[in-house]
Amino acid sequence: MLNLNLKLKLKLILLPSPFPLFSKVATFNKTPLRILSLTTDFSPRNSSTTTMSINLRTHVFAGNPLHFKSHKNIDSLSPSSAFEALTARILGNSQPSPTPLNFKVLPFRNGKALASSAAGSGDSPPIWNLGWIGLDDLRGILGSSGAQLSAESLVYLGSEDDVVYWAIDVSSSEAVEFGARELSFVEVRTLMVASDWRDSQAMGNLAVAGHAKALLEWHNTSRFCGHCGAKAVPMEAGRRKQCSNDSCKKRIYPRVDPVAIMLVIDRQNDRALLAKRSKFVPRLWTCLSGFTEAGESLEEAVRRETWEETGIEVGEVVYHSSQPWPVGPNSMPCQLMVGFFAYAKSFEIKVDREELEDAQWYSKEEVRKALTFDEYKQAQRSAAAKVEQMCKGVGKNQSLAADFNVGTQLNPMFVPGPFAIAHHLISSWAFADQNVVNGVGSNSKQPVSSI
Ligand SMILES: [Zn+2]
Repeated sequence: MLNLNLKLKLKLILLPSPFPLFSKVATFNKTPLRILSLTTDFSPRNSSTTTMSINLRTHVFAGNPLHFKSHKNIDSLSPSSAFEALTARILGNSQPSPTPLNFKVLPFRNGKALASSAAGSGDSPPIWNLGWIGLDDLRGILGSSGAQLSAESLVYLGSEDDVVYWAIDVSSSEAVEFGARELSFVEVRTLMVASDWRDSQAMGNLAVAGHAKALLEWHNTSRFCGHCGAKAVPMEAGRRKQCSNDSCKKRIYPRVDPVAIMLVIDRQNDRALLAKRSKFVPRLWTCLSGFTEAGESLEEAVRRETWEETGIEVGEVVYHSSQPWPVGPNSMPCQLMVGFFAYAKSFEIKVDREELEDAQWYSKEEVRKALTFDEYKQAQRSAAAKVEQMCKGVGKNQSLAADFNVGTQLNPMFVPGPFAIAHHLISSWAFADQNVVNGVGSNSKQPVSSI
């Protein structure tokens, strides 16, 4: 285990921002699936057919730039080799690798990522950045002498050129202080709301933070072999685990939990079914969703969940897009939201009150009014200000509700913001018959959403 002597007063030196990794995002945006684009089109080519042609771009938490830059064929940059080199450097041993490697490490504490905040230009809200630290600061965390570096708390995120990126879990520390540095551990969900979805650098940062959070939390919830009960130890620099029992040696990989999320559509009457979940904020109406069960296809999950929660029968199910979702419950850090259009065969709603507060059919006109970008921008400003306050040491308490506390000029209903796949399911239906891209027409005042 890490011997974190945690009266640390870190002398953190923030790496230049924007650091090279994300300033180069545009250089490898060569394939459509990887583009963090400002112009998103999830609209069907022809709304009268169900054969959707979806120009898929990247959702928030997808499009991780490190995934596309890692050099699997260069041995010194492989996870295992890089971990050996990192260990040697931290412990002060000689550099074993013929390639001098640089390391950048992103600390997490109780699922929160280290972040900084800088003033935005002009009237813009503050801009957050990831709080990468260098090797000197990592040594400070681990202790300069006698530190026992363990793979338990470090995970490999990827590499670019000669830089290897890592995340470290410092939750076992009693306190991590940053002196005069304006850094704070911030919920990734808060960073998500605080991000301008048109900012490709912020989207890249979110994807990296989400991947790191998912891996670290998976390590926390998979400490033992499910087969024999022996301790599971990290392998390949935290990318997988393996049972430590020599007679078992079961390989354990991060488990991805698929969630079906669907916009149920009444084709004849041009309406969509939206649900209000009591655990969310009161005005928020969104898509139905639910975990896929063992032995069930995603399409079957769509039909079952819709039937269970609203009593509506679904016929045709059409795939839309998918989104990694690392900001759900800690026990399920690797959710994959799989989005569908689900066409209703029956229309009478019988709400399961244990699951939902309410469910109603809404016309396109009503839904378009609920796609209120002003509120999303207000929520972003509010969350960005909160991150700034946290980094300055003000407002230590985070509450999710505050992310949606967007003032008094409120519409009676709104749908999730552009960071969520539900938004794009709803908006691509609501605007499918207009010559617009995701709610943005030539005369629209709404900004283009990036996915
Ligand atoms: Zn085992």
